[in-house]
Amino acid sequence: MNPKKNGPIYFPGALPQVEFLARTFKILAANGFTPENTIVGVCVCREEPACLLVKEIRKLWEMVYNFSSLAGMPFAGKTGFMKMQKYAPNDRTDTRFLYMAFSHIGWMPDGQMGRDAPLGRGKSSSACSGLVAFQQELASGPSPWEPDSDNLEQGLLNQRLFRNMKYGGGSDLVALTKLAYTIILQDVEKLLGLTLANLENPYALVTGIQLTSHGQQNFIWPGEIYEVAHGQRTPLSLT
Ligand SMILES: [Zn+2]
Repeated sequence: MNPKKNGPIYFPGALPQVEFLARTFKILAANGFTPENTIVGVCVCREEPACLLVKEIRKLWEMVYNFSSLAGMPFAGKTGFMKMQKYAPNDRTDTRFLYMAFSHIGWMPDGQMGRDAPLGRGKSSSACSGLVAFQQELASGPSPWEPDSDNLEQGLLNQRLFRNMKYGGGSDLVALTKLAYTIILQDVEKLLGLTLANLENPYALVTGIQLTSHGQQNFIWPGEIYEVAHGQRTPLSLT
């Protein structure tokens, strides 16, 4: 396999970012989600280059709310999700919601991932700095894994990762990024259940892992992608 041509080798099925966004837009439009009737909430890591994805999404969708927190975790919680839903006009029952959420890691065409993939001069890592900080804390010994009032998002991230990590895990950044994705999906779905239960509005969820690269093409590995209308969940395929 030629990774330069085929994309990041640890994430089979990853699409160039521009293609991922175009395909999701097309499949959602075919299912009735348009920039005019859809409010979009995006949750990515707040650090560059991951957060630059919000700008690309805004080029396609008009009403975009940025929920970004460290590592792409939906720490805005119920308050953030309900705030976004309140932007739907009361007199419009056809308003739809689209939620997009991603973890991220860097990649290089030679197959390097995460910490080994240099970002450029003066920068040694293109993995998520929140995940790298968790790894370092894990390596330094036992930790209470409680939220730290001086470092709230990192403390919450550590707690979510540690509770969901298999014993002895955490040393592999690719695996940790995939674990972060799984937690993001789980937490977003929980928040959707908590905040959309009394609403009839159709909604869609688009998730995945951002594979960012300095000087090369960004990719996105597609995770769970589906729409829910009239209580029915329908998977959406990008292929
Ligand atoms: Zn990050």
